[in-house]
Amino acid sequence: MDDRQIDVLISEEELGKRIKEIAQEIESDFGGGDLVVVGVLKGSFIFMADLVRSIKRPLSCDFIRISSYENDVSTGMVRMEFDMTQPVKDKNVLLVEDIVDSGRTLRYLLEHMKNKGANKLKVASLLFKEMGTDSKKLVDYIGFEVPERYVIGYGLDSEGVYRSLPYVGAFK
Ligand code: 5GP
Repeated sequence: MDDRQIDVLISEEELGKRIKEIAQEIESDFGGGDLVVVGVLKGSFIFMADLVRSIKRPLSCDFIRISSYENDVSTGMVRMEFDMTQPVKDKNVLLVEDIVDSGRTLRYLLEHMKNKGANKLKVASLLFKEMGTDSKKLVDYIGFEVPERYVIGYGLDSEGVYRSLPYVGAFK
């Protein structure tokens, strides 16, 4: 892609296997009823695409766009760029995140979803970065825990690039 060297932290095979496991847990936890899967753009788009194809039950997909990082650095503020297009009142909602770090973005989104009157609300995050915060308890399904490095690939970017890598990595 360019000449920056990247360490592979989670391979394509590991991602595929873990996502199938999470999908099975989600299937048994949600049971019947409407299920709306809401992807948080842009970072979750590849995880979401693989996850929903492994959840063997009817569901609908929607998206929400949030930004809190500029040039790979957190701005400390969460801004909604666009909202989902369907009502979720009394519906079961699965929020799909790429990575939870401080949990600031997720707390904002959970509040937003509660205000919309979602019934059962659960959160799946591909990655979780442990920072000594209590944000882990907010996430129902965690794909992998990653170290304190800026990670890229499988949907996650660095200054808009590297989302298309088929694995999760970090610059050397
Ligand atoms: P939080 O609000 O939990 O601190 O950060 C969550 C958001 O920050 C994620 O949805 C993601 O957009 C971004 N983010 C946090 N850490 C990383 C990282 O290591 N790599 C990338 N690409 N984005 C990150």
